[in-house]
Amino acid sequence: MKNALTVPQKTLTLLLCLFMTVSVLGGCGRREPFVRTLFALDTVVSVTYYDSRDAEAIAKIPERLEYYEGIFSRTRKGSELYEINARLAEAAAEGLTDVRLPLSLEMYQALSLALEYARLTDGAFDPTLGRLSELYNFSGSQHTVPSEAQRTEILSHCGYENLRVENAPSSAWPWHLTVEDPAIVIDLGGMAKGYIADRLKEELLAEGVTGAILNLGGNVLVLGKKPDGGPYTVGVAKPEAGSSDYLITFPLSDASAVTSGSYQRFFEENGVIYHHILDPGTGLPAQSGLKSVTVVAECSAVADILSTALFVMGKDAGTAFLEGFPEIEVYFVDEQGALIRD
Ligand code: ADP
Ligand code: MG
Repeated sequence: MKNALTVPQKTLTLLLCLFMTVSVLGGCGRREPFVRTLFALDTVVSVTYYDSRDAEAIAKIPERLEYYEGIFSRTRKGSELYEINARLAEAAAEGLTDVRLPLSLEMYQALSLALEYARLTDGAFDPTLGRLSELYNFSGSQHTVPSEAQRTEILSHCGYENLRVENAPSSAWPWHLTVEDPAIVIDLGGMAKGYIADRLKEELLAEGVTGAILNLGGNVLVLGKKPDGGPYTVGVAKPEAGSSDYLITFPLSDASAVTSGSYQRFFEENGVIYHHILDPGTGLPAQSGLKSVTVVAECSAVADILSTALFVMGKDAGTAFLEGFPEIEVYFVDEQGALIRD
């Protein structure tokens, strides 16, 4: 095994806590894989590959992650999303409505998918909850638990129906976003890793890579098969920080497995655990009787969106919803740690 990049010290804890959410198991028998690990997208990213001829293509991944972070990061000053939210805040302060902003192709694609699935999930997935995520600040050290009055005020401005993306007739630039009520903060944290994994897969395929495993902090995307022609094996880890035990393992090739869990990012205040998947109805961390949801789908962005949405819906509503998606496989883990396969 080869670690081509050193993992910064601060990421080691995360490596232990987050990495095993959905973990790719084992090596491939006789041949040891190459593994590159780095900290990006506010999480631990690893790329596993078997063919040394792919090293050049794999070496481009860190700069591609930088590129995508420069589009989708809600917190990085200067990112496209940061600037969109800054423009919305200015417009809200001026009392403007129907604010129209230009978008990059990537932002247009991601927002289009986010809004399509926000509609399909009846708002369980909602990319407009950024003001709440800012307050809770799950990734930082200073947390604010919003009062009921604050949540009511913030939620009165939230809602995906507030956003509209425009598709130019020629499918060429400019793409635009129109926001009716700009007093929101857009947050694509529930799907950006999936979208980025799909783009990286396209880029690696274009470079001739035929087999690799991308793991963006638990968003696993498998490209192709192992050198022996067999599928890779992926496991749903026990939903506990740092666990390396598996509830189930399954073969995966040319598909993505994404987990959303309440044990991944959270803080405790006055004896109450606040985790990072929010119920758009209440503005509180979703209490749906689940510890985690793993979604297996061809498209990583869809798996990412649905893992978040299904966590909010819970097992019963989620199972009913999934009747419309027979090609998607889902593993729910309830609060007792029992695995329920849809
Ligand atoms: P992770 O990002 O840890 O892999 P998820 O994909 O489930 O986990 O995304 C959770 C993130 O999505 C939160 O940190 C927040 O940024 C955002 N988010 C929280 N609740 C929702 C929701 N109901 N709909 C859409 N995005 C959400
Ligand atoms: Mg998600």
